[in-house]
Amino acid sequence: MTHRAKKRFGQNFLKDSNILKKIVQAANIKQKNVVEIGPGKGALTAFLAEEALTVIAYEIDTSLKRHLDPLQEEHPNLNIVYQDFMKADLTSIKPDSHIVANVPYYITTPIIFKFLETDTLQSATMMIQKEVQERLNAVPNTKAYNHLTVTISYLTEIKKVMDVKRHLFTPRPNVDSAVVQLIKKETRELAPDQEARFFELVRAAFKQKRKTLINNWHEAFQIDKETLKAYLLSYHLSEHVRAEQLPLEKYIELTKGWVYGL
Ligand code: SAM
Repeated sequence: MTHRAKKRFGQNFLKDSNILKKIVQAANIKQKNVVEIGPGKGALTAFLAEEALTVIAYEIDTSLKRHLDPLQEEHPNLNIVYQDFMKADLTSIKPDSHIVANVPYYITTPIIFKFLETDTLQSATMMIQKEVQERLNAVPNTKAYNHLTVTISYLTEIKKVMDVKRHLFTPRPNVDSAVVQLIKKETRELAPDQEARFFELVRAAFKQKRKTLINNWHEAFQIDKETLKAYLLSYHLSEHVRAEQLPLEKYIELTKGWVYGL
């Protein structure tokens, strides 16, 4: 059965069964409920269905049905849903589910946000483009460090599992890949109203990278610069500090002390 890969759906199929097995092993899903995004021709799905308690796999491309139907027949714990994952209602899936997927790269960030916003999903082990993995694992004072790094590391523990070179996919994509695992933190440091403030402060801080933190916050919240300067000084931070210099813990502290009406 030949299938012409569709670029618009980010179809790059992974063939290397050693890598597929390593992904399943890292995901730690024995007897757990799994959500797969984009089963494709079912290469990863087959391993998942053998290991997990249940697998629900969302595939947008119905022309892959002929590859996936036999797999569905073989595995009674596998349910393939032909739907855009971004439109799927996940409120009724099992309350302790885990994403394992080789995701379509054109929607990597929306998928990560859907995972973060969906309470039924506890972890995500995903093949993503290397550039996004580098962002997630970035440390302060590097080019890759941005508001996504800070926001996602506040909400999850981020682990890099492995690098995967582009030549292992068919068709070969233009970028290298990496597998990462995000596990939602059981307890978070900020109360819900403080969290809303934290997300706003972080987003605004990184709005224009070449500007100082004071200038970005001044523009976002119309707070005068002298007030912001005094606030930063009270945390032993210079008025010239930039967003990418501050670690997550500093943003948490700055959120807790914020009294400027956000
Ligand atoms: N899992 C397979 C593998 O490892 O070889 C295929 C991975 S391929 C990178 C991405 C898959 O996601 C394709 O099968 C594609 O059709 C599917 N896909 C793309 N956009 C989707 C969406 N919005 N919702 C669900 N599946 C999608």
